[in-house]
Amino acid sequence: MSPKLITPGEPPEKTFLTDGLEGLQHNVLTGTLEGLVKWARQKSLWPATFGLACCAIEMMAAGGAHYDLARYGMEVFRASPRQADLMIVAGRVSQKMAPVLRQIHDQMMEPKWVISMGVCASSGGMFNNYALVQGVDQVVPVDVYVPGCPPGPQTLMHGILTLYDSIQTGDLTRRRDANGGGAGIEVAAVDGQPEPVSLGTPSRGHVTVLEQA
Ligand code: SF4
Repeated sequence: MSPKLITPGEPPEKTFLTDGLEGLQHNVLTGTLEGLVKWARQKSLWPATFGLACCAIEMMAAGGAHYDLARYGMEVFRASPRQADLMIVAGRVSQKMAPVLRQIHDQMMEPKWVISMGVCASSGGMFNNYALVQGVDQVVPVDVYVPGCPPGPQTLMHGILTLYDSIQTGDLTRRRDANGGGAGIEVAAVDGQPEPVSLGTPSRGHVTVLEQA
């Protein structure tokens, strides 16, 4: 590389060493390491396959072509807890299943998150009897409660997007610290609320199906 000729009177070329960011010759992005870690965590959720009852049908529907969970990179429900960091408890939890659920949760990667889907998982629902756990938070720490019987795919995805947001903002870890368990975020049901969004537009708080031509 030949040395650059400097003409007398010409202002010296800006460099990073002398002029900081203004002296950079290429575009760069800056950020904190903490922000980068939160971003990576938020964008890499992989759910474990864990359907327990009728709610699981709606969870499967969320992964189908109509609702397209794949747009968030999480359509492949992992068959092994070693490859998953999100547990969606979809359906009622029997006393017999509770230790299995706990074992799968323990085998998942850290950091891991839990969504309680439907009233049965969250509180036992209509099954107030000795056979069912009256709230899965007795077994694992719950971060997001998704309401409904069953919650539709739109409400489940609302819960997932809320989880995304709270991971990115750090609200989830703050709530966990304060609660000493799961974040315990409750979202509203949003199924059937028509509000059209364009393809490619990030949807917030709802997922709307485009009209059929
Ligand atoms: S909340 Fe309703 S749909 Fe879900 S598992 Fe319970 S009874 Fe079934």
